[in-house]
Amino acid sequence: MIRSIMVIIINYKVCDQGRGCPCIAACPNDAWYWDEKNQRPAVNNSKCNDCGICTKVCPARVISGALDEEGVRKIKDEVDADDRKRELLFKERFNVEPEDQSIVVDASTFEDEVLKSKDIVIVDFWTPKFSARCKNNTMMYSSLLAKTNKKVVFKKVDILMNKDFCKKIGITTIPALVIYHKGKIIDYIATKIGLAEEDQIKERIAKALNSI
Ligand code: SF4
Ligand code: SF4
Repeated sequence: MIRSIMVIIINYKVCDQGRGCPCIAACPNDAWYWDEKNQRPAVNNSKCNDCGICTKVCPARVISGALDEEGVRKIKDEVDADDRKRELLFKERFNVEPEDQSIVVDASTFEDEVLKSKDIVIVDFWTPKFSARCKNNTMMYSSLLAKTNKKVVFKKVDILMNKDFCKKIGITTIPALVIYHKGKIIDYIATKIGLAEEDQIKERIAKALNSI
């Protein structure tokens, strides 16, 4: 028998499954939690009191609330019929391409690929565990260079997979974009990296690159 209060259903087919899911923080009853086993946000419906906040907080609108069994069935049918794929929605949601693994470096390759590189290297310290945007190439890298004609290579380092190494080189928070040239740090941009910040970050990067 379904309770008369809301039952929350997450469409995992298109949920970004980020550890930083804002619904976890927004739920006033701690019904949302991070499911370690399945590595995704989840809801304990027995704690839900039908406030509806999470359905509004999720920017991707993948959460539905049902008030009765018929509603639950209807939502489950809709989820089953949904043939969209999360990866394909990244571009639509964030105007970025899905992550390209070839640019990911770690503690063992950092020296060769970043510090010893003859090119200017911009390293995006991130982790795919936190949020959908982190799973992407975030802002379009090529667009970051709009105000300079310098040749630049982009790399990414997952801070959770390289915790000790990142601590050693002074990276303790993300997001952080660090510009390296011949083993030296030219600029360290520790800021939110979203489309709203794009112009500001482009200016900063152009200034740093043009100083080389
Ligand atoms: S905010 Fe993101 S992680 Fe949370 S339910 Fe919505 S799509 Fe999933
Ligand atoms: S409807 Fe309200 S109480 Fe229920 S899971 Fe969402 S935020 Fe929490």
